[in-house]
Amino acid sequence: MKDINYFKAKLEEEKRKIEEELSETSIKNPKNKNDWEAVLPTDGDEREPDPNEAADNLEDYEAAFSVTDVLEARLLDINNALDAIKNGTYGKCNVGGTVHDIEEDRLEANPASITCTEHLK
Ligand SMILES: [Zn+2]
Repeated sequence: MKDINYFKAKLEEEKRKIEEELSETSIKNPKNKNDWEAVLPTDGDEREPDPNEAADNLEDYEAAFSVTDVLEARLLDINNALDAIKNGTYGKCNVGGTVHDIEEDRLEANPASITCTEHLK
């Protein structure tokens, strides 16, 4: 197996990118570091809302929400993988009652994998 630091670096790099992306569309919940909330993009416009503009904003908001959900789920996987590195359990699949290695090419494709190819849902 490749040096664990190789996967750690990949995970940390991806984590940094996701947090950067999240910070553009969301604010971190101060009570839960794994929870991000999408914020409505504002243009500082104080006029009465135009119904068409409101609809656009709603679409933006919904889009921001779904992006936030996807990024948040991915960030959680990455944080779990980083914890596993810390705990020395990284790269192990424990589905099916035995602990065995996750294939290296699978980790290469997704360093946050928690199951081997055989036990992939
Ligand atoms: Zn497995």
